[in-house]
Formats: sequence, structure tokens, C-alpha cells
Amino acid sequence: MNITIPKEVNYILDTLFDAGFDAYVVGGCVRDSILGKEPDDWDITTNALPLEVKALFRRTVDTGLQHGTITVMKGNTGYEVTTYRTDGAYSDGRHPDKVTFVPSLEEDLKRRDFTINAMAYNDRAGLIDLFGGMQDLKDGIIRCVGNAEERFSEDALRMLRAVRFAAKLGYKLDSDVYDSIKKRASTLSVVSAERITTELIKLLTSDHPEMIKTAYETGLTAVFFPEFDKAMETEQNHPHHMYSVGDHIVESVKISRNDRIIRLTMLLHDIAKPETLTIDEAGVTHFHGHATLGAEMAEEILRRWKLDNDTIRRVCRLIRYHDLGKGIPCSPRVVRKGVRLMEEDFALLLEVERADILAQSNFKREEKLDMLAQYSAEYEIIVRENQCCNLKNLAVNGKDLMGMGINPGPGLGKILSALLDVVIDDPSMNDKEALLKIAGTMKDEI
Ligand code: ATP
Ligand code: MG
Repeated sequence: MNITIPKEVNYILDTLFDAGFDAYVVGGCVRDSILGKEPDDWDITTNALPLEVKALFRRTVDTGLQHGTITVMKGNTGYEVTTYRTDGAYSDGRHPDKVTFVPSLEEDLKRRDFTINAMAYNDRAGLIDLFGGMQDLKDGIIRCVGNAEERFSEDALRMLRAVRFAAKLGYKLDSDVYDSIKKRASTLSVVSAERITTELIKLLTSDHPEMIKTAYETGLTAVFFPEFDKAMETEQNHPHHMYSVGDHIVESVKISRNDRIIRLTMLLHDIAKPETLTIDEAGVTHFHGHATLGAEMAEEILRRWKLDNDTIRRVCRLIRYHDLGKGIPCSPRVVRKGVRLMEEDFALLLEVERADILAQSNFKREEKLDMLAQYSAEYEIIVRENQCCNLKNLAVNGKDLMGMGINPGPGLGKILSALLDVVIDDPSMNDKEALLKIAGTMKDEI
């Protein structure tokens, strides 16, 4: 087995060898190289102590000095060099009480989570695979290094990591892994939201985001996403649907383009359905107001997951309007209004609506897709002609209005918004002179 190591990484390995140390590339980069994928980053493990590593390189960052990690900078890229270590006892189920540097590679590989992540390589020794990682890569299996239950009791996050690696690689969970997660899923609650979110996002933006369902079946979503469990347990009896709310969500996530914002939106778009459920005399289920309430619930959930404000703003807006245009005949004006609401994300909204439709039943599907195609075509014209749909490309701005004696404040804002209404109705009105004239007539009414 030969792995092609980039020259910067080879330089780091050679520098360590020349100083008399052992060093290997390890973990994800070895796994990905064997699979023929370009690794995201290259991690190095060595018996050199952190201060010894620091002394050998010109530019370093103390990333986790206590944990043995020094980042060596080469150009703009950082490479993490970590001293062989074992993790002592885990009394809290999330981090070791103390880490100990050890002289042997084997000890270091033993502390790693899965067999496929516990291989090391250098050109001198070749592949070091002590736990059958290569075989598990061949068979497509996520297996723990050692006893699954024990490894999950050390660090509960590993349960979610198992599912996310299965999703990333399209692998199966080894039965010991699956059963142990089922047994211990509730202990994920001791892990911080930030660490859970990192894994959740990786799961969601993988090739198999539908594996969120495995996280549900094993009891993991109950800990960080109980709203999803409720959705899984809510049936839909309606001609437009053929799945439960939860299965429709899963299907829509799977169909959607692999983009973080889109996938988060699909995951949460119908999350308020269980809360808004009504059943009419004919036994048909309805979910009035689920998009609006969904946007509110999504905000709370995304905050709980510690996502950034920009992501929250965009995802919640997509959810609030995910039914935009439904049942409204397409017209240039309707689409311009949509663009006004969605700003930069109108194109994403069309993608969200498409995934939503494709995850529904066949009932009226062609009609629904046809409507969406009309919206898309109209949107293309708006973009091509650079039609104004937002205040930022309106031919007049606040300053212009102040220039004609309108005081800054809510009144001015109202006039700008009314002028935008005019332009949305008729794009040819986006002319400074014409708009200022209209503003003049509004001035006294405000
Ligand atoms: P990816 O490319 O998807 O990030 P990765 O394998 O690099 O995959 P990381 O989370 O970056 O995953 O972790 C790097 C390596 O550190 C893993 O391959 C594994 O050997 C080890 N590791 C990371 N987290 C844990 C953990 N919680 N328990 C045990 N070992 C871990
Ligand atoms: Mg990594």
C-alpha cells in the first residue's frame, strides 16, 4: 500500500526523522487516501514531545499544547503534529481527565475511535494497520477500536461520529456499534452542543444525509433534536403526501443539493407540522401555519445548536417562505415580490421548493414542477435584466429623499418602501427623476 504524501507533509516527516524521531501521517488522511479521495487535511503523529516539535520548525502555533498538538505552518496551510498519547480515564463521558504522552504508536492508535480512523503510514514503515481498518474499509463497516460500549462510555460523541462516518462513506454500522448506541444514546446529553453540531453538519452535508434516520432509530436525535422524533411519529393523510412528516423530511434532505444552508432548511422546513396538526371530518390531516411557526421553531433549534446568526437568518427565512407561490399563478410581479422577500436567497428557495415537491407523492407533481419552472424562468429574466426588487438597487436612496427635505426616520423608510412597491409593479419606473416626483407627492401624506 502506497500513499502519496504532499511535499510539505513529507518535509515535516523528514525533519522529524532527521532529528531522530518517529513520525507518521495518521487518521482521516490515511483513510481517505486509501479510498482514493483527496484528504481535507493531513495530521501527523510523532514520538517527539510538543516542545521538541516546536524547536524543529520556524513557524508553529500552540494549538493544544496540553494535548500534545502543535500546528506547523507551511505557506498558508497548517499541519497538526500531535505527540503519541493515551487518554486517561473519562469520568465525565466527554473528555479524558488527563492525557499522557507515550512512546508507542500502538498506544496512540488504540485511543482512536474507529478502525478505519486508526491507521498510520510513512514511506519507511508502510501502512500500520493494527485493528483491521483495511478490511473494514473493504467491507464498508464502521467498527470501534476495541469494545464499542466501553469506547462510547469514554466519549459519548463517538456514537454520533459513527453515524456521520457511515453517512459520509455509505457504510454500515457494525452490529456491536449499533447495539451499543441504542443502549447508551441518552448519554450523548453530556456532550456540548458545539461538538454535536460539528458532527450533525458533517452528517447532513455527506453523500448519505438520510442516515439521520439511523440517528433517530438508535435514539440519538432524541437527545439533541427531539422535534425530529415527533415528526417521525406524525403521519400525514393527504393526497399530496405519502410519508410521515419525518420520512418526508428525510426524503427531502436526501434529494436536495449538498449545500449546508439548503440541507439545514430541508431538515427543519416541516418541523412545526406536529404542532399545527388538525384532522378534518374526512380524516385528512392539515398543518395550517406550519411554515411561520416552523421558522420560529427553527430559530430556537439553530440557536440551541450554536449556529451563527447569518445561517440562522437565512435558514429561517427559507423555512418561513418555503410554500411561497404555492397556488398563486406565476407573473413577473409575483416573482419580483418573492425576490424582494428572499433577497440573495431566491434561487435557493426554488431549490428548496423543488426538493420539497420531489419528496411528496406523485399527486399533481407535474403541475407543481411546471409552476416551479415558470417561477425559475421569470427569475432568470429578472436577473438578466437586472430588474430592481430590493432597496439597494432602487434608483433613489435615503440621501436623495433627505435632499428634498424629508427628515430621516420611519416616514422616510415608508416612502422608500412605497417607491419600491411602485418599481416592483413596473420595473420601468426605476428612474430617479420619476421616483423623486412620486416621493414629492407622498411627502405630505407621511
Ligand atoms: P474528516 O475528514 O471527516 O474530518 P477525520 O478522520 O479527519 O475525518 P476528525 O474529526 O478530524 O476526523 O478527527 C481526526 C482523527 O482523530 C480521527 O481520524 C480519529 O483517529 C481521531 N479522533 C477524532 N475524534 C475522536 C474521538 N472523539 N474519539 C477518538 N478518536 C477521535
Ligand atoms: Mg479531519
